[in-house]
Amino acid sequence: MEQPLDDDGRRGMFHLDRPRWGSLQQEERELIRESRMKDLENIRVVSTYSIFPLILLSFIGGYFLATVMLKPLEKLNSEIRKKEADNLGNPIDFIDNGDEISELIKSFNAMVLKLSKAFESQKQFVENASHEIKTPLTIIQANLDTVLENKKVSKEELEKLLNSSKKQIFLMDNLTEDLLLLSHMTSNVDFKKEKIEVEELINSVINLFEGNSKKKDMSIAFKNQSKSVKIKGNKVLLERALKNIIENSIKYSGGDRVNIFSQIKGKDLFVNISDNGKGIAKEEKDKIFERFYRIDKGRSRKEGGSGLGLAITKEIIERHKGSVSLDSKYRNGAKFIVKLPLI
Ligand code: ADP
Repeated sequence: MEQPLDDDGRRGMFHLDRPRWGSLQQEERELIRESRMKDLENIRVVSTYSIFPLILLSFIGGYFLATVMLKPLEKLNSEIRKKEADNLGNPIDFIDNGDEISELIKSFNAMVLKLSKAFESQKQFVENASHEIKTPLTIIQANLDTVLENKKVSKEELEKLLNSSKKQIFLMDNLTEDLLLLSHMTSNVDFKKEKIEVEELINSVINLFEGNSKKKDMSIAFKNQSKSVKIKGNKVLLERALKNIIENSIKYSGGDRVNIFSQIKGKDLFVNISDNGKGIAKEEKDKIFERFYRIDKGRSRKEGGSGLGLAITKEIIERHKGSVSLDSKYRNGAKFIVKLPLI
């Protein structure tokens, strides 16, 4: 049942025990009014006086935030402004408080270290490439000078100088082609991929050496345990990657046999390419995949190598989500292991 309204127009049980306003005497009502007015006045005084300390506190808080908390950010900002290409690798000094700002500076330091390494390797690459181009140019220039300055050059001498210049042009051509291919491989440009039959791929690489004068007395044998197996990739690039390894055996190993063995292990194709030559020391295991690294510089130049062959192979295989390595345990020559994912 609905409660009746009281004199103040309120409804409900909760104030039933309180005396009704209408039933109070005039003096009692005055007393209550006076007490309420006093309460209101008290509230006004308390709020007026407490507002000043509150304002002061917010100023102090703001100052603390600006000086203590934002100071490291200000320092970080000014350190970032000071960064140039040559001091990129120097980390920003900071006290590790384990807070978010320390974490931010740590991440920043790690990022600039990576950038500085990338800059350094780019610089090294340009220096090496310039050196590789400069060497044949110097030889060509010297040959031309000999002819131009010495009017009595014999026919044989002239032929020798021209052939030497031609060889240097051939080297520069190889180098430019390798540099372009490497740059293409390291950029994130996508390349055409298709389904490739492994047997067909390896046979087409072997065919590249048929009738090749470089093959000399080398025989190439292929044992296939991956019949009708397919991988997905760019045929021209994969041919190039495998060709570089086989060509190296022919050029540098001093052996007379290259064995290619392909097999499936789990979800991967393994192509092992080994020769029976002098082999590669295990300290060179990773260095031989670096750009412009050669074990025997003179021999490599004589063979027309740019020092980029295995670096290109590595990039191509890695762009196919695979890996290439030298088996340092192999004792009968050099053995390279190429791993590629199956479709
Ligand atoms: P390049 O392009 O000059 O031929 P690579 O990057 O292909 O250079 O190879 C790096 C170096 O590794 C070569 O200069 C050579 O000294 C060495 N090398 C590669 N393969 C073999 C091998 N099968 N036997 C001996 N040495 C090798």
